[in-house]
Amino acid sequence: MSVYDDQKKKDDSRVRRLTRESRDLVDVLPPRVPGNLDAAAPWAGMLDRRSFLKSTALFGLAAACPLGVIEATNPSPAAASEGEERFISEALYYEKLPHKKIRCTLCPRECVIDDAERGYCGVRENRDGTYYTLVHSRPCTYHADPIEKKPFFHVLPGTLSFSIATAGCNVNCKFCQNWEISQTRPEQVRSIYMPPKKVASLARKYECHSIAYTYSEPIVFYEYMLDSAEAGHEVDVLSVVVTGGYISKDPLKELCGKVDAIKVDLKSYSEQYYRDVVSGELQPVLDGLVTMREEGMWTEIVYLVVPTLNDSDEELAGLARWIMSYLGPDVPVHFTRFHPQYLLKNLPPTPVETLERAKAIADAEGIHYVYVGNVPGHPGEDTYCPGCGRVVIERVGYRINEIHIKDGLCDFCRRQIAGIW
Ligand code: SF4
Repeated sequence: MSVYDDQKKKDDSRVRRLTRESRDLVDVLPPRVPGNLDAAAPWAGMLDRRSFLKSTALFGLAAACPLGVIEATNPSPAAASEGEERFISEALYYEKLPHKKIRCTLCPRECVIDDAERGYCGVRENRDGTYYTLVHSRPCTYHADPIEKKPFFHVLPGTLSFSIATAGCNVNCKFCQNWEISQTRPEQVRSIYMPPKKVASLARKYECHSIAYTYSEPIVFYEYMLDSAEAGHEVDVLSVVVTGGYISKDPLKELCGKVDAIKVDLKSYSEQYYRDVVSGELQPVLDGLVTMREEGMWTEIVYLVVPTLNDSDEELAGLARWIMSYLGPDVPVHFTRFHPQYLLKNLPPTPVETLERAKAIADAEGIHYVYVGNVPGHPGEDTYCPGCGRVVIERVGYRINEIHIKDGLCDFCRRQIAGIW
């Protein structure tokens, strides 16, 4: 067993402990069916893929439910289950069109939707010419996670973040870790009623310094995210967003006024990759990053390095140059390790040397904070002061060993370290 595997085992066990400690969150949940309740992942309690296929074969259903309950799938509004109305509120960004059609303007897809139909993300519905979100206050998963798991490395290190997600996503990445919730409709997963004030009070109760909108794609539960951020701020809890960044300019600007930090999964520096692997577009994500900078938003970038698909020297250098030109050197960049899953099982995990090569390229371009991710125990997890080169935050996985930053300054040379401390 390598040092990395050994450390990963320790980190997994720490997260299992944190998960157990937050287990009394079940006071807001209806009873679960027996399942993988001890799993550390956000989809804890889900059926595994084999059980999922078995269940769907047994019951003739279209999908499994992340929290372990199987329900019949029927997206028809007429068949909405009792109590579903409390999850429905009018969407914030759309235009009315003739013949009761609407155009959703929340993300660059700009879906045009007929009456009684839904957009691509499956969680927004046209009812008689008015557009609604179906997932307000409707999380299908929740956890108290270390903020390093998001990962945010320059936001309140060593604290917990109350993490929530609803069903749905506006892209379909072939490597998605959480496809069981991101690629489903709200009726296909077991959800709970957790209004924004409850989110904020649970965050306080479990000593989380922030609320994280994460796991699936928070842009599709935009209205719930904004309201929860407001409720969080009323009780001094920050809000951090983990997103693919595929959002239109106006809603993004409004979001920047309501949350404290955004981590963008920049999946590649190639339009072709975005088309083939993500089912999205690169340019709107780059434009969004520039908007975040203009709005003064604290932003970190994660780049999942997928062997043979987005790991060439040319692409990595192009990405690093773009970041330096448009965002500057202080945006942290995390090169994280891919593991085969979902629709990309034919590729091996990213070799550590590839991640080190990506880091070396970004370092050489002048980016100050470049990390190697998903390799616990690697020195590329630490934060180094760009002034004196000393380690100012030492990490192993999600654990912080030492912090040498006071009032945002390096303890050794007093240089400013960018971030929210
Ligand atoms: S948010 Fe959903 S409905 Fe709106 S444009 Fe994007 S994918 Fe379409």
